[in-house]
Amino acid sequence: MRIVFLGPPGSGKGTQAQILAQKVGIPQISTGDLLREAVEQNTLVGRKAKEYMEKGALVPDEIVVGLVRDKLSQETAFILDGFPRTVQQAESLDEVLQQLGVSLDAVINIEIPLEAAVERLSGRLTCSECNSIYHVKYNPPAQKGVCDTCGGDLYQRSDDTEKAITHRFDVYKKQTQPVIQYYKERKKLVNVDGNRTIEEIATDIEELVST
Ligand code: AMP
Repeated sequence: MRIVFLGPPGSGKGTQAQILAQKVGIPQISTGDLLREAVEQNTLVGRKAKEYMEKGALVPDEIVVGLVRDKLSQETAFILDGFPRTVQQAESLDEVLQQLGVSLDAVINIEIPLEAAVERLSGRLTCSECNSIYHVKYNPPAQKGVCDTCGGDLYQRSDDTEKAITHRFDVYKKQTQPVIQYYKERKKLVNVDGNRTIEEIATDIEELVST
């Protein structure tokens, strides 16, 4: 299974990618997680990516494509979350997959009104150890500040501030929305209504990928 999750920031694509990856037992490759790890470990990639991420801007294509290329060459099945985010990244992904002799099965586009997405982002909590995602209101952990899955500390991402969120939406509209059209033209796109409960969306997605 080779699947891409698309959607605006706060659409729940990370949450759904995590759920599906666990259910079907294949790796979730999140470029956001990979980049945050690189920043934390202060690698060369992390030092280059940091300033873009804090502003809510996209990290340059060549850096992100390099990261994804390395990961995909190690996996036969995967769920990509947060990549591609530009048409150029989508074209690069096609090239990489062609070189590996494989293709995408589906691109799941989670649709949500932008106002709902902003509310979700401002209450989002992320695990510092395993990257599990929570929400103070819609998906709270059993114990405040502690991850249900691994017991790690939960934190609020530095780009989940009002200023960075606004910028991330602008970036999404200008640079990522054209990717939807890219996959529509290639008959890979499946739209999913993201304005429902986590469980309802997960059930829908599981059905979609099993047919
Ligand atoms: P995410 O965790 O997917 O919301 O990503 C957080 C941040 O990482 C984004 O706002 C970007 O700065 C950067 N990022 C993640 N994925 C990409 C990508 N495919 N292309 C460029 N920047 C990315």
